[in-house]
Amino acid sequence: MFEAVIGLEIHAQLLTESKIFCGCSTRFGDPPNTNVCPVCLGLPGALPVLNRRAVEFAVRAGHALSCTVHETSIFARKNYFYPDLPKGYQISQYERPIATAGFIEYPAQAGVRRVGITRVHLEEDAGKSLHEGFPDSDQKTYLDFNRSGVPLIEIVSEPDLRSAAEAGEFFSRLRAILVAIGVNDGNMEEGSLRCDANVSVRPAGTAQFGTKTEVKNLNSFRYVQRALEYEIDRQIGVLRGGGRVVQETRLWDTGAGKTMSMRSKEEAHDYRYFPEPDVPPLTVDPAWIERIRESMPELPEARRRRFIEQYALPEYDAALLTQSPALAAYFEETAAAASNPKAASNWIMGDVLRKMNELGTGIEGVPLKPSALAGLIRLIDLGTITGPIAKEVFEKMWGSSRTAGDIVAAEGLARIDDDAAVEKAVRDVIAANEGAAAQYRAGKQQTFGFLVGQVMKATKGKANPALVNQMMRRILDTEL
Ligand SMILES: [Zn+2]
Repeated sequence: MFEAVIGLEIHAQLLTESKIFCGCSTRFGDPPNTNVCPVCLGLPGALPVLNRRAVEFAVRAGHALSCTVHETSIFARKNYFYPDLPKGYQISQYERPIATAGFIEYPAQAGVRRVGITRVHLEEDAGKSLHEGFPDSDQKTYLDFNRSGVPLIEIVSEPDLRSAAEAGEFFSRLRAILVAIGVNDGNMEEGSLRCDANVSVRPAGTAQFGTKTEVKNLNSFRYVQRALEYEIDRQIGVLRGGGRVVQETRLWDTGAGKTMSMRSKEEAHDYRYFPEPDVPPLTVDPAWIERIRESMPELPEARRRRFIEQYALPEYDAALLTQSPALAAYFEETAAAASNPKAASNWIMGDVLRKMNELGTGIEGVPLKPSALAGLIRLIDLGTITGPIAKEVFEKMWGSSRTAGDIVAAEGLARIDDDAAVEKAVRDVIAANEGAAAQYRAGKQQTFGFLVGQVMKATKGKANPALVNQMMRRILDTEL
């Protein structure tokens, strides 16, 4: 038996307006090479000036990942040549990153899972090489420097993950945290969140690590899982066949569904890191670090636990409702206004999310306001309307400005609680279904539900179901 040992390196683009060392915009999707200046084009003599907001975001991430945030960190030059790196080096942090030694914790099947965070460091992104999409793409590569100098944090995990599924779960938790603290938009399609993985395998139960490979280009949760599953199997196959895993960088090929060798250890870059002479050591005021800590929003895991305690929600509801800060807020507003958290949860997880998915929007695009949904829940709890009618009212409220109360009043949908009216409806149904009534009296209990259903149908769902049941039973059991 073999076990996998996995650590992730995640690059997250920080949501600053401007780049890390110049005032150029970080906006995605602008025409190529329109957000550039001498600094981010690496022109001779241009000097970088550090973006304070980028530092603040890195500190936030450090706090959220329970790291030690350092008052002093040092930028370094990482030297390598690539056409989309005009300076010939990337400014990064190396030996003295801004935050180290953290962790994240979350519930898993075998209890609480804790995954170590080795470090968080600040760096600048490179430009983008465009290898396709042009008539002469078979001969030329085009370069877009809009991304050059966009601020990133690189988050390196400890090799604490033991399967592809665990790695996928960890990545998704990390993404939720970064989005919740407002430092990253979580958009993997646009490349603002990217993941590489270090993977090795070893006989289960041994302490020594096997030779690792680095798998790059894992730009979706699905690819992280599929690429790691493939790579783990590949390495186990090599070892079972009596071979040795070669330390190398491999690229996940989405189309082929496999990892391909990109470069071996011998070809690995020697980046010749040295302290960046153009950016002085970064020193941050401890009081500022503390102020940032105090301004941190509630993290997804803390919110999930609070939902279970404060609202007495089941684990499932709490996990689902805390998937995004906006959804959690929608729930909290509804629950508070309705004074019925579980009913609010049921409506949101069921009908609201269903309609939202039909619209193809997020919770922000849902036309039904929490206060309106709460109004509907209150009418049910007060006994003003029945369950089936509530569904009907919900459909009518969606996309309309009418309240549940308005709709019920205008369309005569209030519950029928009047004994005489319900009794008449019950007697009518029994008279019209003598066969079913006789079967019930002869001991066939199932027809009872059918008869009640007929009454609900006849009253268009408005009859008080408890009253119908009670009346139906009394008449069938005591009269012939
Ligand atoms: Zn610039």
